[in-house]
Amino acid sequence: MGKVTGFMEFERNPAPYRDAQARLLDFQEIYTEHDVDRLTNQGARCMDCGVPFCQSNEGCPIHNLIPEWNDLVYRGQWREALDRLHKTNNFPEFTGRVCPAPCEGACVLGITDPAVTIKNIEMAIVDRGYEEGWIQPNPPAERTGRKIAIVGSGPAGLAAADQLNKVGHTVTVYERADRVGGLLMYGIPNMKLDKTEVVDRRVNLLREEGVEFVTGTAVGDGSNGTLDGRTLLETSDAVLLTTGATVPRDLPIPGRELNGVHFAMEFLTANTKSLLDSGLEDGHYISAKDKNVIVIGGGDTGTDCIGTSLRHGCRSLVNFELFPQPPADRAPNNPWPTWPRILRTDYGHQEAVQVFGCDPRTYSISSTEFVGDENGNLIAVRTVDVEMRDGTFENVPGSEREWPADLVFLAMGFLGPEHMVSDALGIDYDERSNYQAEYGQYRTSVDKVFTAGDCRRGQSLVVRAINEGREAAREIDRYLTGSTQLP
Ligand SMILES: Cc1cc2nc3c(=O)[nH]c(=O)nc-3n(C[C@H](O)[C@H](O)[C@H](O)COP(=O)(O)OP(=O)(O)OC[C@H]3O[C@@H](n4cnc5c(N)ncnc54)[C@H](O)[C@@H]3O)c2cc1C
Ligand code: SF4
Repeated sequence: MGKVTGFMEFERNPAPYRDAQARLLDFQEIYTEHDVDRLTNQGARCMDCGVPFCQSNEGCPIHNLIPEWNDLVYRGQWREALDRLHKTNNFPEFTGRVCPAPCEGACVLGITDPAVTIKNIEMAIVDRGYEEGWIQPNPPAERTGRKIAIVGSGPAGLAAADQLNKVGHTVTVYERADRVGGLLMYGIPNMKLDKTEVVDRRVNLLREEGVEFVTGTAVGDGSNGTLDGRTLLETSDAVLLTTGATVPRDLPIPGRELNGVHFAMEFLTANTKSLLDSGLEDGHYISAKDKNVIVIGGGDTGTDCIGTSLRHGCRSLVNFELFPQPPADRAPNNPWPTWPRILRTDYGHQEAVQVFGCDPRTYSISSTEFVGDENGNLIAVRTVDVEMRDGTFENVPGSEREWPADLVFLAMGFLGPEHMVSDALGIDYDERSNYQAEYGQYRTSVDKVFTAGDCRRGQSLVVRAINEGREAAREIDRYLTGSTQLP
């Protein structure tokens, strides 16, 4: 603990985002330059707790050595901080930007005071590492001759690839999209995570270290232009499935077929692809310009639809949430160190306030019908207010409303993975249609086939996908060699 009085001397002072008015004019990242003085003081707030809950199961899923690098930043030892950070996290530049930071929810200081700004410190350490040239390709000295095929290039697949490559296995990652990264590339928008400066930078590093990426290649049963998963299995020593939870939850109410009703991912994926391909010049995206937009569902996906619609210049914007507004502070049944289920105002909500003068979220509301014109175009959404009674939602009589809408984005979560490659390989599923494999083991019902990330556990977080990718790599290494040095 560098400064014993730090937690009493300094207030929590998180790094601000760029000014909302200015950042709405572009798709550049929302973050500001790192301020070393601020970070030094924030690092000094860390109490180096005997039991660092930030690092525990309630806090960080990858058990980042948080008190150690907080202290090193306070002391100005950034290089050492980077080394400690990389011990547990393959991609801190991703989590430092997009993680909701369960570590901060579990921070001991949070019992009496606002938590340490752990996420800001993480991002600053790794960004400094790149700036200083400390992060360089480091290929393995020897190759084992074992071949591993990974299907899906999201954070789970990338973390596994990195770990397996480090111990000398030959890793090929197959990705059906034209770019590598899974939802890091085509899900989370550029303003939250830059695709070229941040995602591609790490992918290129992995390439230089020897990981092979095959894009534009869907793995399935060999039909419809897919690469046959069984052939992949025959020609590999192990196969890891990290295909994500890509089946979206639908809203099958009258009018669902109308033009203008889209899954959120249709909107977000096309926007990022067009942005990267042509700076949005090719027009190959769903434009929200001058449209009345309704986003149904909250969470990160909903927020990203809000931020993207605002950047297009939408005419109006509303966000429906089925659940009631969360409390401002922890409820009695949500004590420290559990994840605080409180009202959070994310970047998209701030931006909506900037443009329209009010928070776009409307709570306790359920959509009952999409209304169209004679040409099959969406013109409105009908809703009813709901109340939770005995664990179920009940409609509030007389609360029916109609909202003008040209575009609706459905952001209500994901049901599980697609079964294209898993059916071809014949693996078992769990009761939620995920690929079945025990946490910590990651072995499916088929020999040589492992699975990790959202396709195994259901939709989750980048940091959990990294954790599962790392642990699955450990199990694959153990399976192939009989023992393992991997954590
Ligand atoms: C819009 C959105 C925003 C999010 N924002 C955040 C956030 O801010 N913070 C956070 O922590 N989490 C966020 N998440 C969740 C997070 O992105 C996921 O939990 C994480 O990416 C899961 O990683 P994964 O590697 O398991 O799968 P994914 O990232 O989903 O990657 C799976 C990859 O597999 C590929 N694939 C699938 N099937 C095949 C096949 N048959 N052949 C070849 N390739 C295939 C897919 O194309 C995809 O690229 C967000 C999710 C969404 C949808
Ligand atoms: S719980 Fe908070 S104060 Fe304690 S070691 Fe972790 S970051 Fe520091």
